[in-house]
Amino acid sequence: MRFHWHPLHLTLTNPWGIARGVSTEKVGWVFEIEHAGITGRGEAAHTKRNGESLESVKLDFERVVAAAGTDDPGELLKALPSIGVHGASAAAIDVALHDWLAQQAGFALHQFLGIKASPLPITSFSIGIANAETIARKVAEAAEYPILKVKLGTDRDREIIGAVRAITDKPLRVDANEGWETREEALEQVKWLADEGIEFVEQPLPAHRLADVAWLRERSPLPIVADEDAMTSENLRELAGAYDGINIKLAKCGGLREAVRMLDLADELGLKVMLGCMIESSLGITAAAHLGARAEWLDLDGHLLVSDDPYFGVRCHRGVLILPDAPGLGVTLVSPGHD
Ligand code: MG
Repeated sequence: MRFHWHPLHLTLTNPWGIARGVSTEKVGWVFEIEHAGITGRGEAAHTKRNGESLESVKLDFERVVAAAGTDDPGELLKALPSIGVHGASAAAIDVALHDWLAQQAGFALHQFLGIKASPLPITSFSIGIANAETIARKVAEAAEYPILKVKLGTDRDREIIGAVRAITDKPLRVDANEGWETREEALEQVKWLADEGIEFVEQPLPAHRLADVAWLRERSPLPIVADEDAMTSENLRELAGAYDGINIKLAKCGGLREAVRMLDLADELGLKVMLGCMIESSLGITAAAHLGARAEWLDLDGHLLVSDDPYFGVRCHRGVLILPDAPGLGVTLVSPGHD
């Protein structure tokens, strides 16, 4: 088995604003496994929020390669949890191994995992935080997408929703990214958002405030969905008492195997599931999309927000995702956007 990794530079079409800050580019890693003439690939879309950096992901890759001690991708997938890598690094390796194994078995990834290709929920398209004029332009540019997810959690939330609603009455979802500080403030915002025809609110309060979220949920006219609070399957039982749903992301939970565990547990606990993403290329998005038929909501638009995605995989037509049916992820490199 041979391992390679290289940086992946992605340029955002528009500066990307969320409650925590603004970015114009995203640099992640692609991890590749080559064995028996088959290459499996996975993307590490790390985030500072989760204590990750380009350097920390690289160190994780080096650690896994040093500890691998096997020439069997299936064995390495089994051993991965004991090597102790998490989040985006683990996701890249887990996805690369699944890609390799599914290609070798001759199945598209969703088939390999026993999941249907369709129907998939329509994906939302995200509108980041910006001034009212830019938001109006972005909403107009997103005309083809039937559902928008609007980033809030600022002191200008009403101006932002006003700018969106001035242009469209399509279904909206809201992500506060931990941006509201007190449960009373969150309740006031959620009640107002219900009047604006919003479907649900994601992560209204900072993570680890489950008692406040439970208080809010009891009074909230809208479903409340956990993102920053829902990292892995470990705390889902606690979340079920506070939230209506969870946002599962491969880069948070460490890959497909843990995502499937979260999907199974969410079903058991009656938690609704959104499959979400970071800013990532078609490589990472396609991996998540293969799980799409098991989700209630999809927010798999990271690749639609960048202008130089070097990969080609899942297609998106008016918010409808169409999975590739080639073996494995079904992702190909279309342009050398990396170095
Ligand atoms: Mg979120």
